[in-house]
Amino acid sequence: LMLLVQPLNFLGFVYREIKQSLVDMEKMFELLFVGREIDDSPSARTLEVRDAAIEFKDVDFGYEGNRQILHKVSFRVEPGTKVAIVGPSGAGKSTISRILFRFYDVNAGRVTIDGQDIRDVTQASLRAAIGIVPQDTVLFNDTIRYNIAYGRPGASDAEIEEAARLASIDTFIERLPDGFDTIVGERGLKLSGGEKQRVAIARTILKGPQILLFDEATSALDSKTEKEIQASLSEVSQNRTTLVIAHRLSTVVDADEILVLDGGRIVERGTHTHLLEMQGQYAEMWARQQEAATYQEKLEQALT
Ligand code: ADP
Ligand code: MG
Repeated sequence: LMLLVQPLNFLGFVYREIKQSLVDMEKMFELLFVGREIDDSPSARTLEVRDAAIEFKDVDFGYEGNRQILHKVSFRVEPGTKVAIVGPSGAGKSTISRILFRFYDVNAGRVTIDGQDIRDVTQASLRAAIGIVPQDTVLFNDTIRYNIAYGRPGASDAEIEEAARLASIDTFIERLPDGFDTIVGERGLKLSGGEKQRVAIARTILKGPQILLFDEATSALDSKTEKEIQASLSEVSQNRTTLVIAHRLSTVVDADEILVLDGGRIVERGTHTHLLEMQGQYAEMWARQQEAATYQEKLEQALT
């Protein structure tokens, strides 16, 4: 039997290794591809961020020729304020964040930051100005220090540790076998969803961008962890221009403006209180989610 098991173990090992490198390659290609999709214009200048006002003006967009995804989307995020985009899945919320990061160009209308059309600036300067906390953070198979420093290559150890502290992940890291030198990621220590999001927050703090983009940054977490991470995100976004794409409405109650996107159109907009008073789509989503949240909390309590 051993004669049979050993090669099988070996095959299993080879299979896992190959699968892992494929996953890594996929991520790498994703990054490369995304970077190459759009070229800087020959006359591209460096984005000059002053107070970081974002404006989408009559933006039309489609990934493929004849299927329009966004229709005349217009909104402003004033310096240091927070705008949230909510709406059913497939509405076009993430598309808006991809356009802001310029993974794609608009078909009509324009996107500006402090009055500069993002098509006229270098992508490097645009991306340096924006910090993203995505739904699922990808950790590299490297030390936790490297993973945080990725936000700003060249950061000192003291700066990295300070970022970890502000993201409330310092105590967790100090308890790890090798502290900041512990290898994490698929082939290292696996972190929970909440821990990974804290690493992403630490990265963003270290990068120190004037614009923040959270795309359903806490939707994959249980409600207790979500509340903790939300508190960290709110702190990071103080005085920064912030665009939040949210699945759970409870996370955007405090936004300066909430946009309800449906079928690529802004169908309602206003503050949480205003939108509840309107008794429209937002109010309906709110009622449904309040009900669901009560059930979820009961379920989580029953399970712990
Ligand atoms: P949301 O984030 O609101 O759930 P998305 O912005 O991801 O929605 O997607 C909006 C629409 O665009 C969906 O119909 C989706 O299928 C389509 N879509 C998203 N990404 C692509 C892509 N890379 N190519 C073609 N269609 C896409
Ligand atoms: Mg999305």
